[in-house]
Amino acid sequence: MHLKSLTLKGFKSFASATTLRFEPGITCVVGPNGSGKSNVLDALRWVMGTQGAKDLRGGKMEDVIFAGTSGRAPLGRAEVTLTIDNSDGALPIDYVEVSITRRMFREGATEYEINGNSCRLMDIQELLSDSGIGREMHVIVGQGQLSAILESKPEERRAFVEEAAGVLKHRKRKEKALRKLEAMQANLTRLTDLTAELR
Ligand code: ATP
Repeated sequence: MHLKSLTLKGFKSFASATTLRFEPGITCVVGPNGSGKSNVLDALRWVMGTQGAKDLRGGKMEDVIFAGTSGRAPLGRAEVTLTIDNSDGALPIDYVEVSITRRMFREGATEYEINGNSCRLMDIQELLSDSGIGREMHVIVGQGQLSAILESKPEERRAFVEEAAGVLKHRKRKEKALRKLEAMQANLTRLTDLTAELR
């Protein structure tokens, strides 16, 4: 599995549709200060489901939409599409190429798509979680984040590793199953009480 391309349209400083193509191996993004290198990483985080505006270096989520410049009016929506080569079947979906799209309108509405089909954020998170590129995006280490990881508490550091290793998904599923079991147990107790009353 490798990231094939990333298309940004109306996302932060990328007003016009811009596609970056990646080959297997190492990719370097170079450019002067303020030219949008970190915005590319923000776009990756965003399309993979990040929900916190702060993770994207903004005050509110709407800040990802191109805000305009002296020569160009602001836009009404931001859109990012990430195309992943899945020829090794690393993602649990029957496609050799998987495209994930996230779109946000200035009024606040957000849309998600997998291969052009409308889906929920949860579907994207589920799809990616086994690949180790989960919701918290700890596989993307931004400026200043390295020291934050090194200075984190052991439990927090363990969560980073678990997410990257794909364990977090199973932990979350276990928690969900335990909650269901508890609710079921409560229902069962109530049912036993009712049966006893009816006798
Ligand atoms: P450095 O090397 O200094 O870290 P960089 O290449 O990583 O810089 P970015 O931080 O990616 O640069 O880009 C910053 C630029 O993006 C700024 O010029 C900022 O005005 C612009 N920018 C950020 N959000 C928006 C937005 N919503 N609309 C328009 N421009 C934006």
